[in-house]
Amino acid sequence: MEDIFESIFGNFGGFGGFGGFGSSARNSNRPRKGEDIEFYLDLDFFEAVNGVEKEFFVNVKTVCNNCSGSGAKPGTKKVTCKKCNGRGSIRVQRQSFFGTVVSEELCNECNGTGEIVEEKCEKCKGKKYVLVRKKFTVKAPKGVNTNNIMTLKGQGNCGENGGPNGDVYVIFKVKSHELFVRNGNNVFYELPISFTEATLGAEVEIPTLEGKEKYTIPEGTETGTEFTLKDRGISDVNGYGKGNLTFRVKIITPKNLTDRQKELLREFSNEREEHLTEHKKNFFEKVKELFE
Ligand SMILES: [Zn+2]
Ligand SMILES: [Zn+2]
Repeated sequence: MEDIFESIFGNFGGFGGFGGFGSSARNSNRPRKGEDIEFYLDLDFFEAVNGVEKEFFVNVKTVCNNCSGSGAKPGTKKVTCKKCNGRGSIRVQRQSFFGTVVSEELCNECNGTGEIVEEKCEKCKGKKYVLVRKKFTVKAPKGVNTNNIMTLKGQGNCGENGGPNGDVYVIFKVKSHELFVRNGNNVFYELPISFTEATLGAEVEIPTLEGKEKYTIPEGTETGTEFTLKDRGISDVNGYGKGNLTFRVKIITPKNLTDRQKELLREFSNEREEHLTEHKKNFFEKVKELFE
């Protein structure tokens, strides 16, 4: 099946005013547009990053081909509704505080059409449509994000009395990733590095959206430092460039040290005493100022 579709990428803002349904008694035979269908399509993080072709199935109301949408058994006639005498509406009188109130209401026998079928179509049971499980194939473009919608024009539920079909709205939902955190087109993650790598600087292996690569962490890197790879994030769904890839280093404190390692660290610490004292002095001076 060839799907004709028109893409609209924007944020889902709720649908309203579609279809033009009304319950006006006199207009029940006029063509009516079919209902729109909303379908939520889940994508994995990388499917959204790289774009993907997806298939899904939806039950769509389709004009019954047995009765051509009349609801009547082929070869039988439609007869005038006896309840409303073909008017499609009935007059209802009610007693109220202000006296008798007369109102016009839709005839529930013929559903406002003024006629009823002599014998119902056996395929659709007189409903004029049948539910068909329809296969859709959509190409989700690179950079698609949660709440982006794609409109499949005229692929929704069939209209009534020859009215046009509704549309199908494919609403994307992108799953989160265990490492990469997406914020718009930017991607973020935390990179654990060792205390020695941070202190001495090191060439480390970092994950990117395109795979692993080498990155040089400079000497004396503080925990929490962020490094940004410009234009290495996600492609904008509408083609407006790319986001950035940022990682924040997290220094892992060494644990379960051997006696020898502990000894080396103590030795190291003794040599650094002067430097540390300087830091501590500054810190305690600030604390003092704070409480005076
Ligand atoms: Zn039928
Ligand atoms: Zn009627």
